[in-house]
Amino acid sequence: MMEKPKEQCAVVGIHSSSPSRTSSHIYYALRALQHRGQESAGIAIQARKIKCIKDLGLVGEVFHESNLKKLRGKIGIGHNYYSIKLSKPENAQPHVIETASGRMALGHNGIITNSGALKRRMDRKGHEYNLGSEEETIAFMLSDEMAYGLSFAEAMKQVVPELKGSYAMTFLHDGKVYGLRDPHAIKPLCIGKFDGGHIIASENVAIDVLDGELIRDVRPGELVELTNDGFKSHQLVEGKRKAHCFFEYLYFARGDAVLDGKWVYQIRRRIGALLHELYPVKADVVTPVPDSGRTYALGFSEASGIPLAEGLMKNRYIARTFIMPDQRSRTVSVREKVNPVVPVVKGKRVVLVDDSIVRGTTMRRIITVMRHVGATEVHVRIGCPPIIAPCYLGIDMTTRDQFVANQKTVEDICKDLGADSLGYNTIEGVVETIGQRRNELCLGCITGRYPVRIPKEMHRFQKKLLDFHFKED
Ligand code: SF4
Repeated sequence: MMEKPKEQCAVVGIHSSSPSRTSSHIYYALRALQHRGQESAGIAIQARKIKCIKDLGLVGEVFHESNLKKLRGKIGIGHNYYSIKLSKPENAQPHVIETASGRMALGHNGIITNSGALKRRMDRKGHEYNLGSEEETIAFMLSDEMAYGLSFAEAMKQVVPELKGSYAMTFLHDGKVYGLRDPHAIKPLCIGKFDGGHIIASENVAIDVLDGELIRDVRPGELVELTNDGFKSHQLVEGKRKAHCFFEYLYFARGDAVLDGKWVYQIRRRIGALLHELYPVKADVVTPVPDSGRTYALGFSEASGIPLAEGLMKNRYIARTFIMPDQRSRTVSVREKVNPVVPVVKGKRVVLVDDSIVRGTTMRRIITVMRHVGATEVHVRIGCPPIIAPCYLGIDMTTRDQFVANQKTVEDICKDLGADSLGYNTIEGVVETIGQRRNELCLGCITGRYPVRIPKEMHRFQKKLLDFHFKED
């Protein structure tokens, strides 16, 4: 049962002057990016050879002092994974792949939407797959190009136009570390420096944790190569149009991240204020659904003058929700994760604020519990417009029938949730508060229009969507 959409991965690449510290730098960077993937973690380091340690679990569960010590070398990449398929140790990344042009390690955040066709091409050329993964396909394509004598960057220039979809990747090959961002820059990727080296990472929080400094975001269609004294830029293709995932700003990225020059915290706070402008309400208290609704609730409270208070408390130690065998135990599991603070909500008209609603199941239960402990009214305000379409670009929202907003009107959803009123942000509101032009954002899951073509083979994940008509924006 999915309660919130899940980001697939985090990537990190580091060039450090100290071979003994590279793996620990990557470890801390991955911990800072743990919110982007909690199923597995991995680090690959290159000294003479590429060595990789990876496993299922959180970064702090997979790595400890003794195995980090085994990973010595000046360059390395790291990866946190959340799988939209089955959790299997072999799906953990970085993938280390043997090719005719040498050993390569890859970490990937995103989805190659034409991977089936590309794999068939590589199969015909006789490449032998271990996992059948997209990352192996990319490695084989690069290897084929390098076999003609091209450098890694030149080979990548040939490969990038063939790859459709979203990708922020890091690579280790032949003693060098690289970061690549797709021509639409759908997934975030930035470059920073720290005392003794340079870093490429999904979010600047991985740079901050090393007391480093953000230099800039990787440009659409740019390959960055970290060097001894900085980095080299290879602009492989001119980006056609930017299409940053709007959901990064609203939910996936950490609240202290800055994405493509925009502070996530400020955007969420402005959305909270906008929700008050769009849907004012007489109430006694504004309360966030923790933790995702916090900054929105702050913005709503500041704009409305209604006091902000923590009406729900989250148990921080329940990391994953299990599917319970019966309805009663499922209800218990919601109160196990978030529980009302009775003095805050009893006898009060409450504005309950969150970032998004997918199924509506959790929100319905929270409202029921709030009423049970004495809230007289519950008004729901949501920072994201109604989610109506799947994400084909690397977020765990894969079937259309899971979205409550796809089947019902806002009025019906409000009734279904048991709320006194419900107000969603608008698409215009999202675009305006993010401060990018509409055609510089991917809004696929709230419009049904995607920045890249989604070939039919993607239906392998979306069997219930065969009647869905893809449109290109
Ligand atoms: S479809 Fe939605 S979640 Fe997926 S990349 Fe686009 S905006 Fe992000």
